[in-house]
Amino acid sequence: MTDRPHLAVIGAGPAGLAATLAAAAHGVRVTLIDAAPEAGGQFYRQPASDLGARRPEALHHQWRTWERLRDGMRKHADFVRHLTDHHVWLVERGPRAGFTLRALLGPEQTDPAEVHADAVLLATGGYEKVLPFPGWTLPGVLTAGGAQAMLKGSLAVSGRTAVVAGTGPLLLPVATGLAAAGVEVAALVESADPLGFVRRSRALLAEPAKVVEGAGYAARLLRHRVPTLARHTVVEAHGTERLEAVTVAALDRAGRTRPGTGRRIPCDTLAVGHGMLPHTDLAETLGCRLDGVAVHVDAEQRTDVPGVWAAGETTGIGGAVLSLAEGHIAGRSAAARLHGTEPDPRAWAAAARTRTRLRAFFAALDGVYAPPAHWTSLITDDTVVCRCEEVTGGAVREAVEELGAGDARTVKLLTRAGMGWCQGRVCGPAVAGLAGCALTPSRRPFARPVPLGVLARAGEADGDA
Ligand SMILES: Cc1cc2nc3c(=O)[nH]c(=O)nc-3n(C[C@H](O)[C@H](O)[C@H](O)COP(=O)(O)OP(=O)(O)OC[C@H]3O[C@@H](n4cnc5c(N)ncnc54)[C@H](O)[C@@H]3O)c2cc1C
Repeated sequence: MTDRPHLAVIGAGPAGLAATLAAAAHGVRVTLIDAAPEAGGQFYRQPASDLGARRPEALHHQWRTWERLRDGMRKHADFVRHLTDHHVWLVERGPRAGFTLRALLGPEQTDPAEVHADAVLLATGGYEKVLPFPGWTLPGVLTAGGAQAMLKGSLAVSGRTAVVAGTGPLLLPVATGLAAAGVEVAALVESADPLGFVRRSRALLAEPAKVVEGAGYAARLLRHRVPTLARHTVVEAHGTERLEAVTVAALDRAGRTRPGTGRRIPCDTLAVGHGMLPHTDLAETLGCRLDGVAVHVDAEQRTDVPGVWAAGETTGIGGAVLSLAEGHIAGRSAAARLHGTEPDPRAWAAAARTRTRLRAFFAALDGVYAPPAHWTSLITDDTVVCRCEEVTGGAVREAVEELGAGDARTVKLLTRAGMGWCQGRVCGPAVAGLAGCALTPSRRPFARPVPLGVLARAGEADGDA
């Protein structure tokens, strides 16, 4: 076993699992590392084992694919080591060759662990974008993906009456999932213009499986009598101790709220999301080139840093099936190159075709789903924008309009927005929007906060986790 080359895969979602199986099947020893306690990532998030879920498949699509991945992991168990609860904060080139991965262990994230490998495959997925509006910090307001994660991971819902709002395809499984779990979904509020689907119908219809999936969600929304408000947005969440209602308003063609259209919807849960962004922190620490906000890869899913591959939503948002295809290609390519051979792309031709089709589909979808063009006008001066450091919209505007800040970094230095625990992951898009600049990578030295004691001892241990 030890004479096999060693690949470290970070992220046990669809991309990381597909990559692990492809590499292990082609003579590579794999260490699969993930911060979560179970494999599956966001899409195949599993209920905590002590909950004793009898039918976890009821909360999932494509359960057969998950079973195939899970069985594949068992089959290749001799060559795959799965490290759960490992939060990787840094990947660096080893002193001689290969790479050293530095992680923090368990929920406390205070004890360190190290993994050494010949090559690295980044499959760290994406995270949700949430744009602020008055009342968004009230208890009862959570991200759409957060509501979905609670449902899948804890079999729990956060209230009895929910509004699901924002923009993007993720709102559909969230609304139907909550409704199926017995929550009254008072409205699905989507800011996208349905005409956008008509304008891009050619590109969208080229992927019939996705059209069928969309129709399935529409049927479920009808069955659960979920009212859908297209070209609408939440303008305010109301409540004193916790969420009691939201006000939604219609949007005009320019993306401004139409005066006089506001209506109040009582609810105790607001699940809100405005799309997804790729996780690029580890790629940034390695110095990988980014295309906009995603990791740049070539046809083999290689980054521009030798020995580093990337697959799945870290390279661009496109759903679980695209992540599986990219992971498979990356795993095959890494296996061939680690054995010192030139990979033959014919070996992954089917996955490459899926990748091409789904990238085109999601590019078209990206042009349809969008937050309201004038979403920053909803942020009042006393709306908290940076939750960690409690920086308001007024403070950010003052930094921009009176102190001359023209980018998120200068706003951060003047207001502390983005200096807190989340390191600007949540407030970054809002600060960039208020500053009128593009969202740019932050180039943090580490992917997550690290205790000083761990930093001081980094490099002392030479054993593997
Ligand atoms: C909260 C949330 C809920 C979602 N729910 C749905 C849904 O219901 N239906 C749907 O169609 N799509 C959903 N999506 C989108 C879907 O999950 C993705 O399309 C798909 O999972 C992408 O696969 P991936 O392998 O690229 O990444 P992911 O599945 O996101 O897996 C990435 C993995 O990397 C791990 N990771 C990241 N950084 C580190 C690190 N530094 N150290 C260690 N581990 C790390 C994470 O723990 C995660 O397990 C959701 C996305 C999110 C964020």
